[in-house]
Amino acid sequence: MRVLIIEDELKISNFLMKGFKEEGYAVDVSLDGEKGYEMALSDHFDLIILDLMLPSMDGLTICKKLRENNIEIPIIMLTAKASVDDKVTGFDTGADDYLVKPFVFAELLARSRSLLRKNNKDKISKLTVADLELDLTTHRVFRSGKEIMLTSREYGLLEYFMRNEGSIITRTMITENIWDINYDSFTNVIDVYINYLRNKIDKDYEIKLIHTIRGRGYMFSGAQ
Ligand code: CA
Repeated sequence: MRVLIIEDELKISNFLMKGFKEEGYAVDVSLDGEKGYEMALSDHFDLIILDLMLPSMDGLTICKKLRENNIEIPIIMLTAKASVDDKVTGFDTGADDYLVKPFVFAELLARSRSLLRKNNKDKISKLTVADLELDLTTHRVFRSGKEIMLTSREYGLLEYFMRNEGSIITRTMITENIWDINYDSFTNVIDVYINYLRNKIDKDYEIKLIHTIRGRGYMFSGAQ
């Protein structure tokens, strides 16, 4: 899952970035309204956290313009404004949810999950491949009933693999979907993380799930 945070207050955007990353989301941040709007137009995101008062383009305008461009990514607005009129304006411009500052991160996270679930057409809460099970609600992973502890980045990678079971997954796809834009594509960080994941979910089991497709990338499959 990829989150775009458009928030010019560095303290808040850093705090949000850290919080979402810890939960296994890939996070991109824009401190500027117009730049954030252009990033959102790329349509690579699953969720947008949008501040209202921003330099160069305000949050309401961003929201309105995104919807005019048929970008339907769920948007949660963050603002210091708390009046009913402001909320109504927010929803009228196309926001899906609204949170008044100061807020508790756990609440933002819960609202984010709820929106992502609503947006997820098949409304699944669990991914299963062979005897591997990933619970999208609790973020717990089990293989043959035994719990496997993953870091947030490993979890994000595994979720992406499982959602694309049976398809070839290139490094570019992983970069675009799991890593943020600042990721340095010249490092072997993806291979390193795939090795971590292999050690945790495949090493001790006869049936391997992560397959290397030479020259192309990877495939996640329980079929031998
Ligand atoms: Ca602001």
